[in-house]
Amino acid sequence: MLPLPMQQDDLDIRSAVRAICAKYSLEYWGRADEEERFPEEFRTDFVTAGFHAIAIPEQYGGGGGTLSQLAAALEEVAACGGGLSATASVHIPLLCVPTLLRHGSEEQRRRWLPAIASGELFVTFGVTEPDAGTDTTKIQTFATRVEGGYLVRGAKVWNSGALRADKTLLLARTSTPGSTERKGLGLTLFMADLHADTARIAPIPKIGRRAVASCEVVFDDHFVPEDAVIGAVGEGFYHLVGGLNGERLLLAAESIGMGRWALDSASHYARERVVFERPIGQNQSVQHPLAVAYLQLLAASEVVRRGLREYDEKGGADLGTLANAAKYLATEAAFTCTDNAMQTFGGYAYAREYHIGRYWIESRLGRLAPVTNDMVLNYIAERVLQLPRSY
Ligand SMILES: Cc1cc2nc3c(=O)[nH]c(=O)nc-3n(C[C@H](O)[C@H](O)[C@H](O)COP(=O)(O)OP(=O)(O)OC[C@H]3O[C@@H](n4cnc5c(N)ncnc54)[C@H](O)[C@@H]3O)c2cc1C
Repeated sequence: MLPLPMQQDDLDIRSAVRAICAKYSLEYWGRADEEERFPEEFRTDFVTAGFHAIAIPEQYGGGGGTLSQLAAALEEVAACGGGLSATASVHIPLLCVPTLLRHGSEEQRRRWLPAIASGELFVTFGVTEPDAGTDTTKIQTFATRVEGGYLVRGAKVWNSGALRADKTLLLARTSTPGSTERKGLGLTLFMADLHADTARIAPIPKIGRRAVASCEVVFDDHFVPEDAVIGAVGEGFYHLVGGLNGERLLLAAESIGMGRWALDSASHYARERVVFERPIGQNQSVQHPLAVAYLQLLAASEVVRRGLREYDEKGGADLGTLANAAKYLATEAAFTCTDNAMQTFGGYAYAREYHIGRYWIESRLGRLAPVTNDMVLNYIAERVLQLPRSY
């Protein structure tokens, strides 16, 4: 496995995670992707070993550890051949945790967090809609007040894990557009059930990370009880945004793992593959792109590491610049690694047997979701360089 400075942290966790991952071959992950089969066995192993709950506080059934420790575990998963299909199968239900910790009532935390920690409760993220991706404030799904709760109508898309899940952290409108002081107001967060006839779930056929389905979910007068409202009614958008920095850092760590795997396999291939009576890795045109990719990954991993350290020390609330920087640098570096690795494999890059194509297509996802890298640059331009807002 490629040595990066980041791998000096949390060594025990990293080696224990690698021991679990060693049970799952590249063929296992290739088949899961091809057959669009959720990696249930892997998830069970990861959860049972306690890595999944590492960063959930002890009083809610977790390990009481840090985000850095969780990130180290997820980075190793991504570096072991499972890529984002593997990481998504374990990290999706954790995305709601920062929001529940900060905005859930004590009763809600006690109701849901231990079940998330034990792996029993699988929660997805229900924000994006067909006409509202980057501009979240344009969502149309509406929750109408009724006795004892709300009736939800509308459609979500790209709800990852919905087929496997029990609940979704749902953002829905509780005020009509234009009726609030600010466009981010009037949206509310709910912990909504997914097991109901009024929630129709359909997977979206997709080109990568196929072991974990991303779905359209249509809510048709779907009842959500009042005690499933998270935080203040009308302030869900702001509650959600405050919890995203941790997600960005986790994705960044996973991207570092993706890049490590790609460089490792490309270097191995370049040492073994002989063309014109010498290993292709003896050619500088093969060496240099891999060396450049390694340096980008190294630099990105330092920023990710710093972001995680600051998150552990100060919390995620004021970490926008660093979390966005880590997400951008790590996802771009991961794509450079997989793309340059594709060239090293020559025509065999296209053979499923080598798995580099699976990594290539998955590493492209990090630049698009959960936030596009264009929006990260908008953030840096506006907040750091103090340029006028462009949208
Ligand atoms: C595999 C996958 C899994 C996902 N999982 C989930 C999930 O679990 N839950 C969930 O809620 N969502 C999920 N998403 C959705 C994801 O968060 C959105 O796709 C993403 O936010 C982009 O939204 P969009 O696709 O609607 O792009 P659009 O908003 O239509 O934007 C299209 C392009 O225009 C660019 N653009 C738009 N406006 C600007 C601007 N002002 N400046 C610069 N560029 C701009 C964007 O950067 C982008 O490149 C997932 C997506 C994918 C592909």
